Amino acid sequence: MSRTVLAIHGGCGVLPRAEMTVSMAADFRQGLEQSLRAGWAILEKGGPALDAVEAAVLVMEDLPLFNAGHGAVFNAEFGHELDAAIMDGADLRAGAVAAARAIRNPIRAARAVMEHTDCALLAGEGADAFAKQHGLEVVEQDYFSTEWRRRALVRMKVMEKDGTQKAATEAQKHGTVGAVALDARGHLAAATSTGGYTNKRLGRVGDSPILGAGTYAEDGVCAVSATGKGEFFMRKLLAYDIAARIKYRGETLAAACDALVQGELRRPGWFSGAGLVAVDAKGAIAMPYNTEGMYRGAVGSDRALSVAIYGD
Ligand code: ASP
Repeated sequence: MSRTVLAIHGGCGVLPRAEMTVSMAADFRQGLEQSLRAGWAILEKGGPALDAVEAAVLVMEDLPLFNAGHGAVFNAEFGHELDAAIMDGADLRAGAVAAARAIRNPIRAARAVMEHTDCALLAGEGADAFAKQHGLEVVEQDYFSTEWRRRALVRMKVMEKDGTQKAATEAQKHGTVGAVALDARGHLAAATSTGGYTNKRLGRVGDSPILGAGTYAEDGVCAVSATGKGEFFMRKLLAYDIAARIKYRGETLAAACDALVQGELRRPGWFSGAGLVAVDAKGAIAMPYNTEGMYRGAVGSDRALSVAIYGD
């Protein structure tokens, strides 16, 4: 019997401590707890990891706090394009959508791509049309919009003009939500959903829907969901690299994750604000990040639920 565990993140684009009020921190923590509870309710009944990660991500897509679904960041054209992926470690089945503009819950569409097509990734209009055909809820773009994300875009455009955009905070720039789980039958799964980067170019797709980059799960090895600058994660195949280190080099989950997040992604010229949640086949959990914080939470093998934002 394996140890059932669940870990989630709401992105490493956290508000700087100085800007985080007590009531905002309480909202984030409550959102994370809600997500964990949704996933854990499935796992504790012996349900599949795949259902648990979908349910956990779905909660965060619906909350305006996180950069996914409702509350997603704006792209450079004052619109939203959403990416998501889900992967089943049992048989490496996976589905993803990229640059979707009308799907209320991209993670649901990712799962439908996995279950009802022979594709792994559908993009743009095709993804939206597919979701509609499959009876998933479609919405107007303003469903995703929130005032603070609009202000973040306006600020980013000013910074771009001044050439100071590098000084933007992680919270102004990005975020993502994700979940990984190990179920009672020993199956692993991962799910990730994001609006990407504030002011991103129209058509830009990040790492989240790219299997092996921002999302990966393989039974017997690990499940990973990442957050941070997706361009770096695609170039390094971050999530798969962690799996490969465990599988071929026998590294522990913690060592493999740290080698990337605290090592390779911090090399000069490669610095990337990065974080991830990962679980391995024995139920070990890793939640490393190299930013000021990462919205995150877990239910470990002791069944205790915990959430955190910064390092303490
Ligand atoms: N990884 C996401 C992307 O590049 C953004 C993030 O996680 O903050 O689209």
